[in-house]
Amino acid sequence: MSAIEVHMFPCLSDNYGFLVHDPSSGETAAIDTPDADKIMAEAEAKGWTITQIWNTHWHPDHAGGNQKIKDATGCMIIGPAGEEEKIPGLDRAVCQDSLVNLGTHTARVLDVPGHTSGHIAFYMEDQATAFVGDTLFALGCGRLFEGTPAQMWESLSQIRALPDNTTIYCAHEYTAANARFALTIEPENPELQAYADRVTELRSRDEPTVPTTLRRELEANPFLRADDPALQTAMGHPGDAVETFAEIRRRKDNF
Ligand code: ZN
Ligand code: FE
Repeated sequence: MSAIEVHMFPCLSDNYGFLVHDPSSGETAAIDTPDADKIMAEAEAKGWTITQIWNTHWHPDHAGGNQKIKDATGCMIIGPAGEEEKIPGLDRAVCQDSLVNLGTHTARVLDVPGHTSGHIAFYMEDQATAFVGDTLFALGCGRLFEGTPAQMWESLSQIRALPDNTTIYCAHEYTAANARFALTIEPENPELQAYADRVTELRSRDEPTVPTTLRRELEANPFLRADDPALQTAMGHPGDAVETFAEIRRRKDNF
């Protein structure tokens, strides 16, 4: 089975667009639609035809380009069942464990509410790749616009349970600011320090910090580390991962 090709490019001010291409079938999925014109131009430059859109959640910087791309390509739009009314042009609503095919490849849907109430992620096990939208960021996580800390911790726990070597494609380039914040939470974490240095270097050359890997995030991302006893104690909630997560999220909101 041939590997998929992921083409990533900046969109809007700090989003990433992703085109996932299966060479054997010729199918191409756009993961979210921050900027229809940009995404279609990138597809054309690659010689790819967009056959599907996979939406992670309803926010306009993720689904705002749906209709324009669908009108131009006739592609099929797949998105979260929990946000069915809010996803323009939706053809197929999916939820936990729904399977979505791209040629011979399959993505499994994970329900990861918290940033929005119906947010989903797409996990391609045979490619060790996950598209997580605004749920998990490199050294960060999405703001809780529609969900509770307990929900988001549960969602992140589902992502945490994927294999360590999973490549994580998150939807925004927020990593430099996330690193500055993370260092206030775990200043002595050597993996975080090394990660932050790498981020500074990449961003100084205007290079992306996305994708990341789950292993790297487990070592350094404070939002994935709320079950760490030392961190729980430092946040004032020994033995309580949800309250520790909630406290870190509160601090980030006010950072
Ligand atoms: Zn969002
Ligand atoms: Fe977003």
